[in-house]
Amino acid sequence: PPRFSVVATAPPDSILGLNEAFAADTNPEKMNLSVGVYKDVSGQTPVLRCVKAAEQRLVDGEKTKGYLPIDGQADYRTHVRKLVFGDTIDASRIAVLQTPGGTGALRESAAFLSSQIPGARVWISNPTWANHQAIFASENVPYDSYRYLAADKKSFDVDGMIDDLTTKTRPGDAVLLHACCHNPTGVDPTAEQWNMIAALLSEKQLLPIIDFAYQGFGHGLDEDAVAIRAITNVCDEAIVCSSFSKNFGLYSERVGAVSVVSADSATSAAVQSQLKALVRSNYSNPPRHGAAIVATILDDADLTQMWHAELTEMRTRIRQLRSQFVETMKTTGAGHDFSFLLDQNGMFSFSGLNPMQVDELRQKYSIYIVGSGRINVAGMSEDRMDHLCKVVAAVIE
Ligand code: PMP
Repeated sequence: PPRFSVVATAPPDSILGLNEAFAADTNPEKMNLSVGVYKDVSGQTPVLRCVKAAEQRLVDGEKTKGYLPIDGQADYRTHVRKLVFGDTIDASRIAVLQTPGGTGALRESAAFLSSQIPGARVWISNPTWANHQAIFASENVPYDSYRYLAADKKSFDVDGMIDDLTTKTRPGDAVLLHACCHNPTGVDPTAEQWNMIAALLSEKQLLPIIDFAYQGFGHGLDEDAVAIRAITNVCDEAIVCSSFSKNFGLYSERVGAVSVVSADSATSAAVQSQLKALVRSNYSNPPRHGAAIVATILDDADLTQMWHAELTEMRTRIRQLRSQFVETMKTTGAGHDFSFLLDQNGMFSFSGLNPMQVDELRQKYSIYIVGSGRINVAGMSEDRMDHLCKVVAAVIE
């Protein structure tokens, strides 16, 4: 009998599924505020100018398509370390692994936990990025959630988080944190709150796993590393998962990294060897192109400056869209204050729209928002803000 007849259809990815529906929608007024990619003024997800310039150089100078080392390109790994940690930690304590995107970084971290610290449970914020649980589940790492978003759905429940991490965790457990631009809420701890969280992690011997998918999208490259600094100041060990999908616009090139901080350099060398062993039996070695782009940009002062300017442009524009939305909503007379969006960071926020309103926006007006009410602010556009606010007002009245 055919063996595959037992295979049942897997549920579609909730967010990417919306994307397909959006593509099929023929309404010229349609607007996609669901999927997490940056869009520029013309509604495109652009190739950054610094990336194009780096690619030109790579094409001209490329001599081989030979394999990269298992743990990735050496100069790329050095640049990642500097970007994430500056010179705050002795380089010999940091093992860096180039990975296929931030997802690959999280997956290798999960594999590392599962193989090296079996039994450790990972604590995940409620809510979180929809893929986090599945990634840890795939490596058989048990997980649970800690409180994060307050009942008002707009602010950080710092007491709830501290309480859960204090009373529910066991020493040796891991805690998954979003360094900045929390997905899906846009709600981040303040520097002072990060210090409190870091002190608790250290005191309770909890291992921080920091998802750093939006470095530079909140307040700036260094500013957004406040969580990393606070935590590594007091914790000897930490794992940071970087993604360069958003801040370099390299979504499809799959560029990311895991940085594991150990207490001493001998341990770090052992960690590096275990990370390589995990990669060898998984995908053997990482793709070259995306990491070569990042390394080329960060190796060159002019290209780095160009990148900083382009990143600032994206970050500033997202903030402007936030305030334009808030101001325009005020003029609709809907009487609903959206100013909380101004305190939130990155592309995402919980709009507070309920599933019925989200549904009505899609059915009647072809505005696509995730069922939870999460909106991608970067999917808004200056020209069409009046229209967007008019129809949002229509469904909340
Ligand atoms: N973590 C978070 C919080 C994210 O939002 C994303 C991307 N949506 C990722 C990780 C994964 O990034 P990548 O596309 O580089 O795999």
